Amino acid sequence: MSDQTTYDAIVVGSGITGGWAAKELTEKGLKTLVLEAGRPIVPERDYVEHVPAWEMKFRGLGDRRRLKQDQPIQSTCYACDEWSSKFFVSDKEHPYTTEAGKPFRWIRGRQVGGRSIMWGRQSYRWSDLDFEANLRDGIAIDWPIRYADIAPWYDYVEDFAGISGEALGLPQLPDSKFLPPMTMNCGERFVRNTLAKHFSGERVLTIGRAAILTQDHRGRAACHYCGPCERGCITRSYFSSLNATLPAAEKTGHMTLRPFSVVHSVSFDAKTRRATGVRVIDSQTRKAVEFRARVIFLCASALESVRILLNSSTEEFSNGLANSSGELGHNLMDHVKAGGADALIPCYEDHIEAGRRPNGVYMPRFRNVKNKSGDFLRGYGFQGSGYRRGWDRGISETGFGADFKKSLRTPGPWRFRFYGFGECLPRHSNFVELDRETVDAWGIPTLKIHCSWSENELALRNDMAVSAAEMLAALGGRDIQPFAEEEPPGFAIHEMGTARMGRDPKTSVLNSFNQAHDVKNLFITDGGAMVSSSCVNPSLTYMALTARACDYAVQQMKRGEL
Ligand SMILES: Cc1cc2nc3c(=O)[nH]c(=O)nc-3n(C[C@H](O)[C@H](O)[C@H](O)COP(=O)(O)OP(=O)(O)OC[C@H]3O[C@@H](n4cnc5c(N)ncnc54)[C@H](O)[C@@H]3O)c2cc1C
Ligand code: SF4
Repeated sequence: MSDQTTYDAIVVGSGITGGWAAKELTEKGLKTLVLEAGRPIVPERDYVEHVPAWEMKFRGLGDRRRLKQDQPIQSTCYACDEWSSKFFVSDKEHPYTTEAGKPFRWIRGRQVGGRSIMWGRQSYRWSDLDFEANLRDGIAIDWPIRYADIAPWYDYVEDFAGISGEALGLPQLPDSKFLPPMTMNCGERFVRNTLAKHFSGERVLTIGRAAILTQDHRGRAACHYCGPCERGCITRSYFSSLNATLPAAEKTGHMTLRPFSVVHSVSFDAKTRRATGVRVIDSQTRKAVEFRARVIFLCASALESVRILLNSSTEEFSNGLANSSGELGHNLMDHVKAGGADALIPCYEDHIEAGRRPNGVYMPRFRNVKNKSGDFLRGYGFQGSGYRRGWDRGISETGFGADFKKSLRTPGPWRFRFYGFGECLPRHSNFVELDRETVDAWGIPTLKIHCSWSENELALRNDMAVSAAEMLAALGGRDIQPFAEEEPPGFAIHEMGTARMGRDPKTSVLNSFNQAHDVKNLFITDGGAMVSSSCVNPSLTYMALTARACDYAVQQMKRGEL
């Protein structure tokens, strides 16, 4: 079956990047078809952030038998609990394979809004420390852009999304256009002030920079600190496609959003050397449908967009469409984490921490910033929080009687936790390919993922434990518990790099505007485009690159070049 309409644009996926592409293209007047594999989400029905544990069938503990059978991989993610497991895929319907001894945890959401519903909202700009890193270290290829190219687009997306945070003036972590910051609690302020003195300003603690509104903004309400954002947000106080970009696209009257539309592949006309449209399997009827458009934006996430292109092979592109470089699917990166430390800290026993601030604190990268430090390249930042121990002490402390009960009602001591996120180097040997033997619930070949950490990532993780413990010791911390856990790639949920940008079509898939070198009317604006991984959360950069690519594509269309 073929839909005879020729759209101006097709956007594949409606998560963070698809939502932005939909908004930008429709606001510029393009008749845009957004194809989303998953179901529609109705906030009034599906958001569950205000449902208390006692109203849940398993009192918030989750149906462990069902999770083990249906979501054994997804349920390893902290956010996939009894409330929000419905926003994560069924691992049975969405299989993938890995090389023996090289696990990869692929955490996904398939619904309108994608992972923008469950994301952690931490939003940081990248800097030239990141955009120049490959060139400086002689690793992989150079980014074709610098901070100055993307800075106006950070301004642009931040102005719409609303990012709260504190300006610091640090070169390695440029300031955003901030809404007022959330407040640090007194334990965190103690850590901030003590470390500032002890490390002569090298180690700065700030409130997390988050896509959460601290004041009413563009028709969306300020956050009321209810806490569990990964379950949705009926006041639309955090940025998601559902809360912000898709309603803006809808308002233009130019968007057609089609859920249940699993894009199988992109069709290509070898004569005109253009993508002509996409082939879709309707997940409800299981019928094949084709859609046509002048320009196609793949925003299905770094691995899913590549899977679509690998499934779109032609005679000329036998290893996947737009893959004359041979780099499609390669250079897969994720952030290395699970290194840090936790300790009791000596402060404010007379102060109680109250409220459910949906944000932690952040320490920007300090390794290899000004001077070479450590036996590794690049660096890491720390997320963290200061907190008083509460009821959870009962699990480790035993006792009985009135005194024991009273002690549990008394706030516990202050603790502080540093949790690192480190940069992963791009390597050709970390890659995905099609596994034709393993198909998903719609019969589409899925991915085999080959990915492992190098010595550099493992050294970063060990250093996270060492430097975190060192800082907690400097604070006078006790019961210091450093950790450097063995955790496979994928679990930072920042997968990227599989269709990298570059200046040379021989070594990259996309040009500096996310446009495929080989197929000019094809754009990939999700994490696939990244050339290195920085150590900060990537989604804000995906948003800025998407808005920039849409602007470029529309300009090219107007000039008749597309
Ligand atoms: C628990 C959690 C916490 C996170 N915290 C942060 C954070 O604090 N900061 C940060 O920067 N990032 C964070 N992330 C990562 C962030 O969610 C992703 O980087 C971001 O969502 C990627 O955007 P995307 O548009 O590429 O993909 P997604 O948001 O995943 O959207 C992809 C969409 O494409 C659809 N799709 C896939 N395949 C097809 C197909 N074949 N046909 C049609 N549609 C398809 C999917 O259904 C989905 O809706 C977090 C993620 C999770 C899960
Ligand atoms: S953003 Fe604020 S109001 Fe919305 S779910 Fe999170 S804590 Fe609640």
